[in-house]
Amino acid sequence: MRCPFCHAQDTRVIDSRLASEGDQVRRRRECAGCNERFTTYESAELLMPRVVKRDGTRVQFDEQRLRNGMLRALEKRPVATEAVEAALNRIRQRVQALGDGEVPASTLGDWVMEELRELDQVAYVRFASVYRSFQDVSAFREVIEGLEGHDQPPTEDGPSY
Ligand SMILES: [Zn+2]
Repeated sequence: MRCPFCHAQDTRVIDSRLASEGDQVRRRRECAGCNERFTTYESAELLMPRVVKRDGTRVQFDEQRLRNGMLRALEKRPVATEAVEAALNRIRQRVQALGDGEVPASTLGDWVMEELRELDQVAYVRFASVYRSFQDVSAFREVIEGLEGHDQPPTEDGPSY
């Protein structure tokens, strides 16, 4: 790191500590040339992929939008805010893992549906009905049948009836 005062190349770190709740590293540096001290901040640059919508347009990934969609489906449902945030975190991590590529909006929708299915089945069906817009009865049946399959615990002996 070049000295901002005399532009010497030789500066050394004299102190290093975490800042902004651990999301940043704050470093005090001292120039070997002019002995001036200065501070640098280091933080991770998170590149998020762009979302490709059905019509082919690209938009910036918007976590708030995702949260709003989930909360709308979860309205008046007995699901804790922390559980919603944890689900959002998992989705965000999956999105981050894609780096600066692109992600189809339909993939995001599938991930939200996976999470809602675990959180609350009413919310899951609500979200699915909007998101897949249930153009025909079979699409709705598919979602409901998916739920029933999900509900049944796997049994080793098979059905007992
Ligand atoms: Zn200097």
